[in-house]
Amino acid sequence: MSEIRLVNLRKEFKELVAVKDISITFPSSTVTCLLGPSGCGKSTLMRIIAGLEEPSSGDIYFDNERVNDLSPSERHIGMVFQYPVVYRGMDVYRNIELPLLQDPYLRRHQAERKERVESVIETLDLTHAVGKDISTLDNGTRQKVAVAREVARQPRIILFDEPITNVDVDSKVQLKQALKKLVKRHKQTIIYVTHDQTEAMTLGDQIVLMRNGEIVQSGTPGEIYNHPNDRFGGWFLGNPGMNFVEHQVHRDGGATYLASPLFQQPVQITELNGHQQVLVGIRPERVRLHQDGLPCTVEGEIIRRSIVVGGQHLLTIKVGGQTIKAKVPPDQLFEEHQRVWVECPLEHITLFAPEGYRFDSTLTYAQQEETK
Ligand code: ADP
Ligand code: MG
Repeated sequence: MSEIRLVNLRKEFKELVAVKDISITFPSSTVTCLLGPSGCGKSTLMRIIAGLEEPSSGDIYFDNERVNDLSPSERHIGMVFQYPVVYRGMDVYRNIELPLLQDPYLRRHQAERKERVESVIETLDLTHAVGKDISTLDNGTRQKVAVAREVARQPRIILFDEPITNVDVDSKVQLKQALKKLVKRHKQTIIYVTHDQTEAMTLGDQIVLMRNGEIVQSGTPGEIYNHPNDRFGGWFLGNPGMNFVEHQVHRDGGATYLASPLFQQPVQITELNGHQQVLVGIRPERVRLHQDGLPCTVEGEIIRRSIVVGGQHLLTIKVGGQTIKAKVPPDQLFEEHQRVWVECPLEHITLFAPEGYRFDSTLTYAQQEETK
């Protein structure tokens, strides 16, 4: 169980900079999900931590030991890749036990070895497969075995690089559940790479969001989801991501207002450092729909309705020349082409600069001080 600290880590492949001077700490005994689109540098960062790739510059520390010059095996790391690495011609038990036999202490202590193997078998729901030859098993089960083997070794850090991506659809859900149980039960230092935000949200104690070789934001899943630093986080997280509506601001006397299609009443905004434009961001599940008009609503029309994961209804709504998405529970009855009144609660709005970074300005209704 080690803390991992990266200081000004950079990796260049000729003119391409895959990792751009990243500094970050991965706390001990926590699961950090490294999340970002394909090509943003996640695997490169993992490979540098594991010692499989040399950084162009920067330092890697495990606890307070600088490990740049240590070989992969000297770093005592466990790794699980996209494709399961298993020993063919052996059964599941043996696949998990084999690396433990390399350890002189564990070779002598059969009882501890047995306990470690049996514990991961139980956690990862592999009991039914214990005596089976690995070659006869599906990809999902093989990947569980690969995970079990790394966990049983108890390395100081385990790195997972998209372990679910190449597993058959049927066993994906099962593997995900097993991983969830595993990370809850074994408090190891884990870095889990994924491009799938749902996976990151459910598995991570913290998420590090990456884009183009840089860290956009790191924090708990809740922090990143509810307070994205950048519109990128608003867009990348969520299913679907945040709605963004561009607004002009106008100034009147000392005050600044939004000229908005989303609000019936004038909305006042705290200072924007002279910006003329602002992006209003709101998550689809935060948009409220009403059957009748209220002062805080504007009239719109539902132009599309579909069902998304979890049985929720996703509605596409035309409102004041804009299109926004709302996610509502299935018991709220809305039909296509129906008129609705849309409320975007001010407390659930995040404001972004046109360049993408978050403004910490607040919104209030200008005339009635009922909201906020
Ligand atoms: P991710 O894992 O987030 O999909 P990678 O770390 O694999 O991203 O890749 C980051 C960038 O570095 C990509 O543009 C990729 O093409 C490039 N890259 C990765 N490995 C190499 C390599 N060995 N040689 C040249 N370019 C590479
Ligand atoms: Mg990758």
